[in-house]
Amino acid sequence: MNPPLGDGGMTASVIFAPMTLIEKDRKYIWHPFTQQKNMENPVAVVKGEGTLLFDEAGNSYVDAISSWWVNLHGHGHPYIAEKLYRQALQLEQVIFAGFTHQPAVELAERLLPLLPGNFAKVFYSDNGSTSTEVALKMALQYWWNQGQKQRTKILAFKDAYHGDTFGAMSVSDRSVFTMAFHGLLFEVFFIDTPDAENIQALKVIVDGEAGHIAAFIYEPLVQGAGGIKMYAAPYMDALLAHIKQQEIICIADEVMTGFGRTGKLFAGEYLAEKADIICLSKGLTGGTMALGVTACNSRIYEAFVNDDKYKTFFHGHSFTANPLACTAALASLDLLLRQECLQQIAWLSQQNSAFAATLTDKYCIKNVRYLGTILAFEINSGNDGYLNNIGSVVTQLSMAQGVYLRPLGNTVYIMPPYCTKKEELEKIYNLLNDIIGRYGG
Ligand SMILES: *Cc1c(COP(=O)(O)O)cnc(C)c1O
Repeated sequence: MNPPLGDGGMTASVIFAPMTLIEKDRKYIWHPFTQQKNMENPVAVVKGEGTLLFDEAGNSYVDAISSWWVNLHGHGHPYIAEKLYRQALQLEQVIFAGFTHQPAVELAERLLPLLPGNFAKVFYSDNGSTSTEVALKMALQYWWNQGQKQRTKILAFKDAYHGDTFGAMSVSDRSVFTMAFHGLLFEVFFIDTPDAENIQALKVIVDGEAGHIAAFIYEPLVQGAGGIKMYAAPYMDALLAHIKQQEIICIADEVMTGFGRTGKLFAGEYLAEKADIICLSKGLTGGTMALGVTACNSRIYEAFVNDDKYKTFFHGHSFTANPLACTAALASLDLLLRQECLQQIAWLSQQNSAFAATLTDKYCIKNVRYLGTILAFEINSGNDGYLNNIGSVVTQLSMAQGVYLRPLGNTVYIMPPYCTKKEELEKIYNLLNDIIGRYGG
């Protein structure tokens, strides 16, 4: 959009209205997961503080989905900001092959004992998709390094989501998100999440393919982008125990579930059977900086330690172990492990449980579920697909009430930051009741 040209007589004195931020956005930007045609104007956010996002007009919104599931302690946290500032003056970035630095080492040292399993090494990358790519490559090369060339297949769950890069897409459910690429994605064995009815059948399916399967990747107990689907720990333990008997490498993708979301520090703590590899991102830095971690146990690591140079793990990213991101992660860990934060997580979990109980007799919703700080339900509608319009209707209704929600298709969910205050949570629950009312109660 070019500003209109002034008429010949007054060129020198014409003052053009400057383009607004939104106009410039529409001119220069391509937004994620968004059909650009007839796209609604984005909201220009000028400030974040605690759970609140403030727009240009001064409206505030409770960030009830933690800005795509990343934020733990609220926006603009002064403790994290201060640490970042000091680290930026000290060392902002350095190549991580042949060099190391305090934040990366300290983060690995502090993280490893907290993880659910016997993890020995941390491999850094810079987001959730790369953390799962790294895990898949580690698992596949583990077998290759040992000359077991038949172990090349990956086992995953239906409705899984592990990221948007090609490997991560391949092990994610085939959906509207991946449709244009189906011919290019590698073959994966998809199975249902386990329950009382199907657990025996799942074991039989696994046995039939076991000799070819390199690894099993799963989101423990909560499948996020696939629709906040939850499944029970006992059957998952039975499935994992069976899979481990076949020496299949278990990869827990805790990119979303990590760092307290499910009520425990990691969802893997609900499970007796531990993973060989774990993927972390999102809440890792408290939602302030992009960072990915793929941690593995010594079984995996030792398969790469060799005189044979071909057995090296040839993978890395420009911003691997970025010192600022590692510093943010350390600061976030400090805050997360404080008694008051752990109490907040427990309080949010209790509140969700109590609120879910009030929803049982509503007829326009189904599958009310919660685990820790996450609560979800579906709105009954003719169209359960991702592309129905419930999402935009609900988001508009929410924003008008000063809350930000972004449903996945007809699945409405909340995943608030841990610093959410009592009156903010009430505002969120009131909104959910209001949404349910609009759809018929
Ligand atoms: C978000 C997510 C990813 C991808 O992380 P990005 O940082 O968005 O690439 C992978 N796995 C799970 C379980 C996720 O929720």
